[in-house]
Amino acid sequence: MTAPRVLIVEDEPRMTRFLETLCAAHGYRTVHAASGRDGIARAADHQPDVVLLDLGLPDLDGLEVTRQLRGWTHVPIIVLSARGREADKVEALDAGADDYLTKPFGAQELLARIRVALRRQARSPVDGEPALTVGGLHIDFAARRITLDGDDVHLTPREYAMLITLARNVGRVMTHRQILAEVWGPNAVEHTHYVRVHAARLRRKLEADPARPRYLLTETGVGYRLTDE
Ligand code: CA
Repeated sequence: MTAPRVLIVEDEPRMTRFLETLCAAHGYRTVHAASGRDGIARAADHQPDVVLLDLGLPDLDGLEVTRQLRGWTHVPIIVLSARGREADKVEALDAGADDYLTKPFGAQELLARIRVALRRQARSPVDGEPALTVGGLHIDFAARRITLDGDDVHLTPREYAMLITLARNVGRVMTHRQILAEVWGPNAVEHTHYVRVHAARLRRKLEADPARPRYLLTETGVGYRLTDE
């Protein structure tokens, strides 16, 4: 098995060195591009397994790079964004990025996100797996059955649809807009409160302590993530 290849699209030399060193130390091969256009060209030439994409690039905006990549590849894209730009993160995820990290971030956090992206990439892109287990939570997609520590969990159709949507994207943050489009349909994408209300209901049924969720995590200002660990 060859080592996964990470394409680093980042113009800042210090951040680039940090990312290259970290990836190499954990057995990944790296390719670097210092601009958006170069990043797109290298993605085509080197067929990376995951892309780390800075949003603030000298030529193209990282959002534009995401949109262009999504025109022809499903490669996982992890966006690296500056602190306090929540709207950018949401836009990047809606444009097709898989995940984001806010600078400054920890090395372990980045490595964990890369592992999630690679695991997702390894799964079938069509149907995924018939069931998902995270800790004590078991979701049987085929039987439409949810159990928590072995006990059946009864969900309303909307709660079920929201949990399934998150489960199909396990480990990955989904924006309010993405969840709304999947669960309530494309005309509902502005109704962020639907998602909040149903997240609270899901937590009451799934979490030992809904105020400190173990499974359904809030990404402040962005959306929700069903943890995969
Ligand atoms: Ca930059």
